[in-house]
Amino acid sequence: MALIVQKYGGTSVGSVERICAVAEKVMAIRARGDDVVVVVSAMSGETNRLVALAKSIADPPKAREFDVLLSTGEQVTISLLSMALEARGCSARSYTGAQVHILTDSAHTKARILEVDDQRIHADLAQGTVVVVAGFQGIDTEGNITTLGRGGSDTTAVALAVALKADECQIYTDVDGVYTTDPRVVPEALRLEQICFEEMLEMASLGSKVLQIRAVEFASKYNMPLRVLSSFKEGPGTLIAPEDETMEKALISGIAFSRDEAKLTILGVPDKPGVAYMMLGPISEANIEVDMIIQNMGADGNTTDFTFTVHRNDYKTALDILQNIAQEVGAREVRGDEHIVKISLVGVGMRSHAGIASTMFKALADEGINIQMISTSEIKISVVVHEKYLELGIRSLHAAFDLNSESVS
Ligand code: ASP
Ligand code: MG
Repeated sequence: MALIVQKYGGTSVGSVERICAVAEKVMAIRARGDDVVVVVSAMSGETNRLVALAKSIADPPKAREFDVLLSTGEQVTISLLSMALEARGCSARSYTGAQVHILTDSAHTKARILEVDDQRIHADLAQGTVVVVAGFQGIDTEGNITTLGRGGSDTTAVALAVALKADECQIYTDVDGVYTTDPRVVPEALRLEQICFEEMLEMASLGSKVLQIRAVEFASKYNMPLRVLSSFKEGPGTLIAPEDETMEKALISGIAFSRDEAKLTILGVPDKPGVAYMMLGPISEANIEVDMIIQNMGADGNTTDFTFTVHRNDYKTALDILQNIAQEVGAREVRGDEHIVKISLVGVGMRSHAGIASTMFKALADEGINIQMISTSEIKISVVVHEKYLELGIRSLHAAFDLNSESVS
């Protein structure tokens, strides 16, 4: 007998019909003899509706009250799902985050889970009852309702799975797994049977928005196997698990990309100790995250050129800051470019194979795509290119690394 934690996202519980379909799915697991804890999101669109309601009164709304409001979406779903289960003769009980003591810190709208009380849930499971828990919410030590940030139900599910020592945490959503790349860009993209945590974190942070990153980090930390599945379509989904030594590793697991990039360059900065700090200190003080960084020797030998990328939303602010710094340090010029994108190859197989980078650069060169920046890590190679090459670049890499073929594992 296994213990499965299942999480159903907003579209999976988006209507009464969908909630009843979820009840049937849960009952199928019970019929198999396994125990189930279900975590649900608010019905699709509901959290956005609540956000808009609050903002029509105050923007920003008082954080404590905002969380009280946002947490109501999930409370609707837990009760409806429990009713649907009971109506089908399946014993079920719903709980808010506070009721099962999902203790968080007090950072409203982005709280972190500190502790979960597994006693009550285990007691219900022992009675053969399905436990339905509201995702995305918790309670702080003062008894205030908190929420975990958008998409936070994924994290609730993982936290419960870890606390309950579940066998698997299944995340039901509207896609049937993690793909080699976005199928809207490459129709031939394939569902991956399995991907390891490290790869998934790279894929997620680079824009494959299947799972909340925090949930993957959490699962990775505690080695909790995660499975992404569709609640609309039968299938095995994608298993996200610790790296498997026995498995033959695919060279490349997937191609991630981000359209939200911008590039800033400061030219002719006097080359002396502290320059990088001088540039990036004020940027980080403004809470702007810097991604790729390149520093080059200037042509004259006494100065240096410095390029880095930021999120496109931060571009204007970063440009202002850099222009001020340029004046202070007597740099020659500041340049910016908002029309860039980042494409990344991700795969643990890279660790043991040489030549991945050159295959990548050749594939891009063959299409006449100019690479503006390159960065590498142990399991990732990223390039920055002009935004007009995004689709072409991804497609050519997808083909160059044979991801179109059925052999992906
Ligand atoms: N309902 C929340 C949101 O829309 C949490 C979740 O769905 O994971 O962000
Ligand atoms: Mg979600």
